[in-house]
Amino acid sequence: MSQLNDRIPIPPKDTMNTGLSPAKQSTMLAKFGKPGALTKNCSPPAGKFKLRVKSNVDIGPFKVSGLDFAVESLRQIFAEVQQQLPEVFAQVKNDGMLCVRHRRKAPTLFSNHSFGCAIDIFFGTEAVGQGTHLTHRGNFLLFPFFNRHGWYWGAEFSGDFVDSMHFELAEETILKLPNGPL
Ligand SMILES: [Zn+2]
Repeated sequence: MSQLNDRIPIPPKDTMNTGLSPAKQSTMLAKFGKPGALTKNCSPPAGKFKLRVKSNVDIGPFKVSGLDFAVESLRQIFAEVQQQLPEVFAQVKNDGMLCVRHRRKAPTLFSNHSFGCAIDIFFGTEAVGQGTHLTHRGNFLLFPFFNRHGWYWGAEFSGDFVDSMHFELAEETILKLPNGPL
């Protein structure tokens, strides 16, 4: 019997993220400002960026802290998931959203989690780590919902950067957002 935490192959690149690209640091900095310090581990959000952060908001399956727009978008995504895939809704787990830090594989750049516009999702007891060319079946079932709402799925990152637990607001989505808090 298939389980939502089964590790299955990542689907072909041309079947996901259609019309969506990873968000550039320059775009996020221009829209949201500097989120805090470029630290190795999570540091607190700072400056004007703090005005954009919504903390501990119930979005359905769990609570998150993140960028105002991203938190509201997740609430809408999981309202649809609850209707259409109740088992996925019941079992989905969050491995972190807002975390001001540098990228693990590019320490001069802020992680998208720094701006609270990325979330790591898993099923069962352990997330599929970055660099693993597999995905939890549950993440595979969720990616069309995220894509429809303008989120890019990290399963398309190449080589060691592949990151199937990771979803982030796409470049195209962030460019459409107004400047300043919602
Ligand atoms: Zn991530």
